[in-house]
Amino acid sequence: ATPMSIMVGVGRGAQAGVLVKEAAGLETLQQVDTVVVDKTGTLTEGKPKLTQLEPAEGFSEDDLLKYAAAVEQNSEHPIGRSIVQAAVERKLALPDATDFDSTTGQGVQAVVEGKQVVCGKPSLLKDHAIEFDATGTPEGTKVYLGVEGKYAGALIVSDPLKATTERAIQSLHEMGIRVIMMTGDNAQVAEAIAKKLHIDDYQADLSPQDKHDRIEKLREQGAKVAMAGDGINDAPALAAADVGIAMGTGTDVAIESAAITLMGGDLDGVVKAFRLSRRVMRNIR
Ligand code: ADP
Ligand code: MG
Repeated sequence: ATPMSIMVGVGRGAQAGVLVKEAAGLETLQQVDTVVVDKTGTLTEGKPKLTQLEPAEGFSEDDLLKYAAAVEQNSEHPIGRSIVQAAVERKLALPDATDFDSTTGQGVQAVVEGKQVVCGKPSLLKDHAIEFDATGTPEGTKVYLGVEGKYAGALIVSDPLKATTERAIQSLHEMGIRVIMMTGDNAQVAEAIAKKLHIDDYQADLSPQDKHDRIEKLREQGAKVAMAGDGINDAPALAAADVGIAMGTGTDVAIESAAITLMGGDLDGVVKAFRLSRRVMRNIR
C-alpha cells in the first residue's frame, strides 16, 4: 500500500463521514470477513421508550417507576434516560438518590428514601439476594427492580431499529461478509432482532468482557473481525477486533478505542468504510 493512496483514502473517507484515525485500519478492513455489531445504539436508535410496567405484589405502577427513575437519575445509559423520562411524563416527584453506583452492562443501584434500590439485569438483583422469576420478552429490554431486598417488578423498554440498519446488513452480506450481533440484552429480544434482520449469528446476555473474549476467540479461529459499537460497554470489544469502528454518536471511550469513527453513527457508515477500503486497496494494486 502506498502512503499516498492511503492518504487519499483517508481524505475521501472524511468527506463521506468515515473518520480514519489509524490508516492501517483502512488496509485491514479490506481483509475483514466478519462484522460484529452491538445492538443498542448501533442497530437500534439507542433511544428506548418505556412501554410496560409490571409491578410485583405490594407495589403500584407509580411506586415501581418512581424508585426506578430515582436510581436512574444519575445514569447515562439510554435505558436509564427512558425510565426517567417516563416518570417525568407521569409527573411523578422523584426522590433523591444517594450512594449511587453503576455496574456497566448490568444496571444501577442507590439509596432512595432510606431504602436500598437496585435496577437492572436479573444477575445484578441476584447478587443482592433478591429472589424472583426472570422471564425475558421479545418486545424489549426487561429491567428488573429490587427495593430493600424485595423484588418490586419489571419495566420494559423498547428501542426501534434505525431505518438504515436492514439495508446495510443486506449490503454487507452482498460483499460476502458475515454479520454477528453481540449484546448485553436478553436472548428473546436478540433472537427477534436477529431473525428480522437476517443476521448470521447472535450472542446475548454478554458482559463487556464477554464481548471482548468472543471476538478474541473468533480471531483465534481465523476470522478477520471488524467490530462496530457505540458504548462504554463496547470499548474492550472495539480494542480486541482487527478493526474497531465507533459510532460518532456514541461515547468518547468507544471512539478512543476504535481505528475508525463514523460521523453518521449508523451501519450505513460501516458499509461506506468497507467500500472505501476496497477502493483504496484496488488503486494500490
Ligand atoms: P448492549 O450490549 O445492548 O449495548 P449494555 O451492555 O449497555 O447493552 O447493557 C446490557 C444490559 O444491562 C441492558 O440490556 C440492561 O438489561 C442492563 N442495563 C445496563 N445499564 C442499565 C441501567 N442503567 N439500568 C437498567 N439496566 C441496565
Ligand atoms: Mg451499544
